[in-house]
Amino acid sequence: MSNPVRVRFAPSPTGFLHLGGIRSALFDYLIAKQTGGTFILRLEDTDRARLVEGAAEAISQSLDWLGTGPNEGIMPDGSQKGDYGPYIQSERIDIYREYADKLLSKKALYPCWCTPERLDNLRKDAQKAGVAFKYDRHCLDNPKTMDEPHVLRFKIPSEPKKVAWHDLVKGDVEFKTDDLDDFVALKTDGFPTYHFAVVVDDHLMKISHVLRGDEWIPSTPKHILLYLAFGWELPIFVHLPQVLGPDKTKLSKRHGAKPALEYRDEGYLPEAVVNFLATLGWNDGSTQEIYSKDELVKAFSLDRIQKSPAVFDSERLAWMNGHYIRELTPEALLERSKGFWPGEAADYPDEYRLGVLELVQERLKSLGELVELTDFFFSDPKADLSQIKGFDPTEIRQHLTALAKLLAATEWSHDGLESALRGYVDEQGLKTGQLFGLVRVAITGRTAAPGLFETMLVLGQETTLRRLDLASK
Ligand code: GLU
Repeated sequence: MSNPVRVRFAPSPTGFLHLGGIRSALFDYLIAKQTGGTFILRLEDTDRARLVEGAAEAISQSLDWLGTGPNEGIMPDGSQKGDYGPYIQSERIDIYREYADKLLSKKALYPCWCTPERLDNLRKDAQKAGVAFKYDRHCLDNPKTMDEPHVLRFKIPSEPKKVAWHDLVKGDVEFKTDDLDDFVALKTDGFPTYHFAVVVDDHLMKISHVLRGDEWIPSTPKHILLYLAFGWELPIFVHLPQVLGPDKTKLSKRHGAKPALEYRDEGYLPEAVVNFLATLGWNDGSTQEIYSKDELVKAFSLDRIQKSPAVFDSERLAWMNGHYIRELTPEALLERSKGFWPGEAADYPDEYRLGVLELVQERLKSLGELVELTDFFFSDPKADLSQIKGFDPTEIRQHLTALAKLLAATEWSHDGLESALRGYVDEQGLKTGQLFGLVRVAITGRTAAPGLFETMLVLGQETTLRRLDLASK
């Protein structure tokens, strides 16, 4: 695609932004960046009853963290930028009124005074009859006065008989007009419904491509009829397959999916999350898995988005995060790891922390694991020596005391430690694994830790001796 696009991400601030939502925004970002186009963030906050405090800010922060924010609309600091604002629907009420009046005068909208009770009964009747609810047009020719509270309904026209569009992902899609209900465009309180506001805004904001989740497909025919009623050109529709959990049900917390900012707080790197999300249901035809953001901007194409739902795999995300962590220089990792260390690490200099990072970088899958993987570098562990097999308590004490003495006179280098410990094993007629296991538990409190000599070198002689001594008591 080469012409500059105008695309928008238009979330409703009704809850946390899940990864499927972020993925739609990322696709918007990539295609806008690729074509030198515009990515707009618009807030669809007309469903006043479902607003969640802080949700709008979290959306902006998530995009900002990933480095995939908009260049028009709502900016990370909450300000609005661009010539087509306001970009918050609740600030556009007069605009919707003006456009509703246009359709009212064309008789494409009509007022409806039906009470919620009457509509409820109609719904129940439809349910009993096993048919989809359709408003019975009771108010279509109702001569009531416009002063009384009412909604404005869109009159589904008798022509065309079918609404069809070519979706860039789904291909040709078609709906029978006859199956559509005279939906509400403007509510009693003057607020628009989603259907009405989205069409007015996408048109006025000159949106070229509407990317959104495929759960909106049943709404699209209603939108198309609104475009036709206004006499407006249609945008290109791109309905994205959903992101499902591994059990093929709708992605939820249960599958380990969390709000984007929780991934940040757990120490996922934005470049890993971007790479993961972009390749969730999209590929460039090759087997490449790792893409930098610049590579994605070049390679991304809407027509290679998978038609079937994508399956969220948190292990793949962790693997990818581990990959990006391993790619960092130790200095860059030190910089990124701020805020993820055990509390006691604050007392240690950067140099010491660098030494620790070098030992754990290989197996870190998220920065949040630093606490668990490195706490013994910063505070003396409680060594449970009862888990050591093959030695009785007296032997354990004797070995630890002898080793403390030996290591007090050992040169503190890899070779020095290796020859001292191996020499001791030979002299005592022990098994290497057994003795090393004992020392490891004594100084780290765990059976699995980075290489023994490397760990001792980072801990230093004084700490190592102190821990051997503590464990021998
Ligand atoms: N406000 C809708 C949402 O919350 C936007 C749907 C659309 O992009 O048209 O997902």
